[in-house]
Amino acid sequence: MDDHLKDKKIATRAVHSGRVPNDGTNSVTTPIYPSSTYRMAFPGDESGHVYSRWSNPTRNALERSLASLENGSHAYAFASGMAAVSAVMNLLKSGDHVVAVEDLYGGTHRLFEKLLGNFGINFSYVDGRAPSDFEKAAKDNTRLFWIETPTNPLLRLIDIQAVAERGHARDILTVVDNTFATPFLQQPLELGADIVHHSLSKYLGGHCDIIGGALIVRDETLAERLFFNQYAVGAQLGPFESWLVLRGIKTLPVRMERHCENARKIARYLESVDLVEKVHFPGLDSGRLPNAMKGPGGMVSFLVKADFEQVKAFVTSTQLFVLAESLGGVESLINHPASMTHASIPREVREPRGIGDGLIRLSVGLEDADDLIADLKQAFEALRRQLVAR
Ligand SMILES: *Cc1c(COP(=O)(O)O)cnc(C)c1O
Repeated sequence: MDDHLKDKKIATRAVHSGRVPNDGTNSVTTPIYPSSTYRMAFPGDESGHVYSRWSNPTRNALERSLASLENGSHAYAFASGMAAVSAVMNLLKSGDHVVAVEDLYGGTHRLFEKLLGNFGINFSYVDGRAPSDFEKAAKDNTRLFWIETPTNPLLRLIDIQAVAERGHARDILTVVDNTFATPFLQQPLELGADIVHHSLSKYLGGHCDIIGGALIVRDETLAERLFFNQYAVGAQLGPFESWLVLRGIKTLPVRMERHCENARKIARYLESVDLVEKVHFPGLDSGRLPNAMKGPGGMVSFLVKADFEQVKAFVTSTQLFVLAESLGGVESLINHPASMTHASIPREVREPRGIGDGLIRLSVGLEDADDLIADLKQAFEALRRQLVAR
């Protein structure tokens, strides 16, 4: 339906994809269709929408838009990012094995370890910066390679193309959680990935006002299996949330440009602060971004030379950066992984992985970069006074 957009650039597709066919109102924007069920012309008529667990015009409009942005053929929208992860895992059966990056979103790790283990699915975790890590950890029963790139919270980059090639050689599907990069910066299907995952709650929604998730594919068989999962399980996204994400997507390219620009300025500033031991930001050392990423993204992590209590005080002393979980909204957020997003990982496991008590993660928003830097400066000054007082 969005065939006329095939040769268009992503900024054009973000604005024009996911319109509903004219419903008689000449509405320019896609309407919200809350109907759960639809009138049939005769018993068993399935020529149109039947029931909104199968299909809903607003959700389908969002799904077409997501497919267009990721250069896929089909997309499925779910009630949360985790519901979408779960739909992928429902492709597996007892006895199957998955290799995942170890620097993984906490909720995904929890689902893998605390729930799917009960169903006889097994997981191995690898650093993943060397694509051969995946190959080495693969077994005869490995069915999936699970990648996040940039990773969370250390913002490491994984070579999607190299991992997907290794997967295809062994009939293993490669899934890429593209939440941090967004299709504006990286399109994993173009690099050979089989399934793209998104938490729509982050950059795609873009305003910290919805929870949603999505899967995007190119392969027809995989699409059918995921669609079956979506309607059989029933964790799809509602029409109002679908509409909010459609609205968010229209500004995704402009927002991402600004997120990247602000994050780059903040990463450079942090590098100049003597209380900062290390800054994690894609491409900061080399100035180059490998793996076909078009920009560094809006996330920055850094290690502060201070103890647990001092770092906890630091994250509450910013005024513009809001202390909160999540990311990808217009407002800047600050997060202390050791006591927030990654608190469920035991210290002896997270510390060797680089998630120490001094690590702070920023989701850089769309405010003026100078104001954001001034906010961090005053927080560092407060920390310095504390360190001197001791
Ligand atoms: C937030 C997030 C998820 C989970 O999505 P929800 O919408 O919170 O369920 C998965 N992966 C990544 C990388 C995330 O940031």
